Amino acid sequence: MPRPTQAFINLSALAHNLVIVRQYAPHARIMAILKANAYGHGLLHAANALKDADGFALLELDAAICLRDAGYRQPILLLEGFFSTEELALFEQYQLSAVIHHPEQIVMLSDSKYHKLDLFIKINTGMNRLGLALEQLPQTIKKLTGNQYKNRITLMTHFACADDPAEAESVTQQLKCFEAVTKGYSYPHSLANSAAIIRYPETHSDWVRPGIMLYGASPFPDKTALELNLQPAMTLSSKIIAIHDLKTGDRVGYHGLFQADHPMRIGIVACGYADGYPRHAPTNTPVLVNNQRSRLLGRVSMDMLAVDLTGIENAGLNSSVILWGEEVSVDEVAHNAETTSYELLCALAPRVERIVSI
Ligand SMILES: *Cc1c(COP(=O)(O)O)cnc(C)c1O
Repeated sequence: MPRPTQAFINLSALAHNLVIVRQYAPHARIMAILKANAYGHGLLHAANALKDADGFALLELDAAICLRDAGYRQPILLLEGFFSTEELALFEQYQLSAVIHHPEQIVMLSDSKYHKLDLFIKINTGMNRLGLALEQLPQTIKKLTGNQYKNRITLMTHFACADDPAEAESVTQQLKCFEAVTKGYSYPHSLANSAAIIRYPETHSDWVRPGIMLYGASPFPDKTALELNLQPAMTLSSKIIAIHDLKTGDRVGYHGLFQADHPMRIGIVACGYADGYPRHAPTNTPVLVNNQRSRLLGRVSMDMLAVDLTGIENAGLNSSVILWGEEVSVDEVAHNAETTSYELLCALAPRVERIVSI
């Protein structure tokens, strides 16, 4: 029998979420973000479910080549561009699009024989992560569109705070900055991640770049995925592999972090932090046992965790446990563990079997 911890990947949920992106941004082209193995969902499965997207974007060159080899013909954007002249040859060969965010890349381009590429020039409008300084833009465009060049250009930036309802001013600032510096050029624009797609329609422009919303999690702390009409694409599921009846005072797991204050039944679930369940999830983090809400008890181990079976009808060996999915959202678990759904989804371990359903 295989290990009972499995991730069910729901392809129709992914396709549904893409439709929702289109509803939010009906006039933009959609670049579906597939980085980090499609946020843990599996690159080729996700690409297949999202094949109606107008483009794909990721950071891993081998994954981009894998998409081309699988027959996808839409633009495939590498979000950190290329790191060497050798890589540039692959961009040409596989017709990959590159983010240009650093002057060093412009030097590599001018020193190369590759002058007919699809380039997304990324501008630092305030996040101070990737992007050219504002004053570098005119000379960069001049250089990359000069005489011998036939590059296609798109201008892009990225928001630091679009997910934070208290930071609307920051988005407005970045947008204003972008508009000011790109005024006078007629190249297409790309700005919005999931949060901006939903909350700031004025940022949509030509290409939107949804990630987390495609996977059915919410980009916002104050809105659930359900409220946004998004469907979770991943269900992390396991089983109870041991049962214990605790007496008052009995302790559970490493460091005895949970202690029973009355007699109770607990179940041991075959899922731990080596599967991608967050070790920092505390007692009371919700789980679903036999389709009923229950809670985590004590410290999550590498391969197992404990759950409360109080009041759960018929719970026993092999009872189904859902760590996250529809009834208990990955956002809820992330919130309890003081992290984000992004981190939990992309931390799903390779040893967890992914089972795809349509
Ligand atoms: C990851 C990423 C996105 C997608 O962000 P979400 O918040 O998941 O929608 C968009 N743009 C860039 C540049 C990214 O790196």
